Formats: sequence, structure tokens, C-alpha cells
Amino acid sequence: MPITSVSNKSPPTGGSQARLRLAPSPTGRLHLGHALSALINVRFAEQLGGRLLIRMEDIDLARCRPEYARAILEDLAWLGIRPPEPVLYQSEHFAVYRRAAQRLSDMGLLYPCFASRQEIALAAATDACDPDGAPLYPGLWRNRDARDVEARLAAGAPFALRLDMAKALSHLVETQGDAPLSAVAFDEDLQPSAVAVDASRWGDVVIQRKGELPSYHLAVVVDDARQGITHVVRGADLLPSTDVHRLLQALLGFPAPAYHHHRLLLGPDGRKLSKRAGDTGLAAWRAQGLAPTDIAALVGRKPQALRRDVIYLLPRNRHH
Ligand code: GLU
Repeated sequence: MPITSVSNKSPPTGGSQARLRLAPSPTGRLHLGHALSALINVRFAEQLGGRLLIRMEDIDLARCRPEYARAILEDLAWLGIRPPEPVLYQSEHFAVYRRAAQRLSDMGLLYPCFASRQEIALAAATDACDPDGAPLYPGLWRNRDARDVEARLAAGAPFALRLDMAKALSHLVETQGDAPLSAVAFDEDLQPSAVAVDASRWGDVVIQRKGELPSYHLAVVVDDARQGITHVVRGADLLPSTDVHRLLQALLGFPAPAYHHHRLLLGPDGRKLSKRAGDTGLAAWRAQGLAPTDIAALVGRKPQALRRDVIYLLPRNRHH
């Protein structure tokens, strides 16, 4: 069964055209890993006869910069990728995410958490981590005495809003039955399969950060829905996040896109490439004479050393 017939069951846009997205965070310039991800998206968009949208995930105001967003668009254009619709900048839509958080709050599923990162780390059990490796939130402000909460609110203390995971999961059972939540995954040949998801391993995730800023999970789910995204193609590092995304989609009544998580490029030291760690940006490769076709060749390339779903890219430099 082709994937299109799965997504047609609940076409998010009312039409049948597939919609994919690139969702870079403008915290630096693109590196080769982003280029690979972009080109894998292009390939799927072509296979599906769909559109590839661009969304700037620039909600982290401390780390994102408009000049990086401009540079990313320029690097993508060099790769031959131009947005078919206006680029969505998340930083221009904070009210939309606040409304989505409000809906979850009205369902009684959120609670304010005043704890600092340090307090959480100190209180967390040493061996309990979320799939990102962060200490699992030990529930410091869950079911807290209302007077404690009111006192903090009255003092104007900043707070995050967290999802009460246990309540959210039982809300889902009450409203939608006890069929376990799953995601549709598709492979290179667009063959779909159902994958079980388990959001509980994330604990009480943050939905709205201090200062009324949306968390990544909330913003991504809201935007995939309002942009009518039918197919999410992104790196394998985001696979575990899909569990939270599926839960939020189900709670908010959003359609579920189908997912493909592709292999990552690692540096020679086995680390994931990272803008922040200063890995060679695409711009530097461009300056050294690498052509878009060289990058495109990576997409179909057989992994040289396969370790789980990750390949090593042996850096090539024509001038050495
Ligand atoms: N903004 C995320 C990143 O740059 C990608 C989010 C997504 O594809 O869901 O890692």
C-alpha cells in the first residue's frame, strides 16, 4: 500500500497534495548534515509529487539570529531549494502557541513549574533520564499545594507549564479509547508501517517555557498542523520526540503526519555534526569548490560504515 493512501485517510489540507517541510533552527549556518536532510526531503517531495515548505524554528530568542536565517535560505537556494510558499518564522507567532497551550490547560492537563534547572537536576533520580539524556523531571510541582503555587504566582515568579503525563494519557483513554497510540512511519520506498509510541518515557514535558515561550514540542506540532504537513522527514535524532508529538496531536485533535527519520551524518570522531560545535558549514565547503551535485551524491550513497541508522561521512577536501 503506498503511503499516500494512508495519509489520504485524513488529509490535513483537504487536498491530496503531499506537504513536507524543512525546519531549521537559525542558531548557526547549515552544515553537511542539514544539507543531506534537505536533499532527502527534496527526494521524498519529488517521489510524492508534493511541496517542500520552509519553516524557521527561531523560538529560542537567545540563540537564534536573523542573519543565520538569511544565510540558511541562501545555502538552501544554492542547493536548489526555494520555498514555494512564504517562509514561516515561528518567532512571529507566539500568540498561536500560547492559544494551543491554553487549550491543553483548559483540559486540566498542564501545571505551572517554578523549579530551576539546577533544582531539577538535584532532585532527579541519578539513573532516570529522558530520551534526550536530560534528568527525568521528578514531579517537583505536580499536585503541589495550591497555596504554594498562588504564593509564587503572586510574587511574580517565572514558571514553565508542564504536561501532567499520567493525566494526559488517561485523558486520551477516556476520550479516544484505549487503543495504544501509534505513528505511521514510511521507508525509502514510501511503504508505511505502524510504529508504537510511548510518550510516558519523556515524563512531564515542558509545553510552555518560562516567559510564555513555546517548547519545541508544542511549536512543531502546532505548525505541522497549520501548515498541513502530511509527511515529516527529519534526522534519526528526533525519532524519540515523535512519541510526544503524536500525543500532543491526539490531545489537540490535529491530524497525524507520516514520519521518516533518516540516518545522520557523523563527524570522524563519531559525534553528531553540530552548528554550535562549529562543524564545517556548508558555506566553507562551497568556498572550497564543493558543488551542489557533490552534496546531492551523498543522498543516494551507500553507508560506508553502518552503525545503527547512522553513517560516517569521511570528510573530503579537494585541495588537500
Ligand atoms: N528545528 C529542529 C532542528 O533544527 C527540527 C525540527 C523537526 O524537524 O521536527 O533540529
